[in-house]
Amino acid sequence: MKDLPFPRSLPEFQKLFPDDAACAAYLEAARWREGFVCPHCGTAGEPFRFEARPGVLRCRKCRKDIGLTAGTVMERTHTPLSTWFWAAYLVTSLSPGMSAVQFQRQLGLSRYETAFQILHKLRAGMVRPDADRIGRPGDHVEVDEAWIGGKTKGEGRGVHDQTLVACAVEVRQRDAGTLLDKRKGGRIAGRVRLAVVPDRTAKSLTTFVQDAVLPGSMVVTDGWNSYSGLQKIGYEHLPVSENGDGQVADDYLPIIHMVFSNLKTWLKGTHHGVSPQHLQAYLNEFSFRFNRRHYPFNSFRSLLGLAGMNEAPTYADLYSGEWEHPTFSDHG
Ligand SMILES: [Zn+2]
Repeated sequence: MKDLPFPRSLPEFQKLFPDDAACAAYLEAARWREGFVCPHCGTAGEPFRFEARPGVLRCRKCRKDIGLTAGTVMERTHTPLSTWFWAAYLVTSLSPGMSAVQFQRQLGLSRYETAFQILHKLRAGMVRPDADRIGRPGDHVEVDEAWIGGKTKGEGRGVHDQTLVACAVEVRQRDAGTLLDKRKGGRIAGRVRLAVVPDRTAKSLTTFVQDAVLPGSMVVTDGWNSYSGLQKIGYEHLPVSENGDGQVADDYLPIIHMVFSNLKTWLKGTHHGVSPQHLQAYLNEFSFRFNRRHYPFNSFRSLLGLAGMNEAPTYADLYSGEWEHPTFSDHG
């Protein structure tokens, strides 16, 4: 089995993916690690290839065409494969990601809509449909919710669409003897889960916790009443009563406050605020980056590889409001 290479720099990217044919070869290798096998008749062996249509293979036995983008976010696209590969590379290698406007400019795309749609399709590939719940028995997981939002483009000044977002983040302790971050008592963030929730009721927040966190974990929350049922459904629960004292919360929920603060900065700085309709997609992207922040180069490969396993929205879906951005709890 050959391992797929992934680019670590722009020159390497250019060398690996000089044209659409190179991108097609990469997709083929990703799908058939042991060589082409026809999905229609099961015959193995070299298919026919067409220079003018690099995205299509034809089985020599049954003569059926197989599209290399079938089942991926690139299916039925009119955008060249090389543009998609650039997009995946830019999205995963620039640590804050990029806005549709920046992306349109970088790739010289004539239509903003194309840039917008490509980025949203890649975001659909950022959700692992089989994502595990975070935490473990004995692990600490901080859970909190916050209002996220702000001005939405085109709706005029002073219009604020605030959306409630719930977050769960693993808290790990640095090993003794390593460099400690004293401000946070040596605690560091593990994996994160983020989801739009309808309200702050016990039903909404416990459903979020059940989707995001493994039972048996120690869930640390503020004193909000809606979290009081967690013990009954199998979690250790440590509610921290803030009593209006922000310092107490900072001491007991330092990591989650950092995550929310980074999230808000990112939404404002890179994307200049996002509409409630698309917020879940940006939460997915933020989580994807956050959870892979120590492995930026693997993201490119996993994004392309994962992309094939997810249903992606069409532009019409995105604007009609029919499309629901997937969350980590959408198990296949
Ligand atoms: Zn065949």
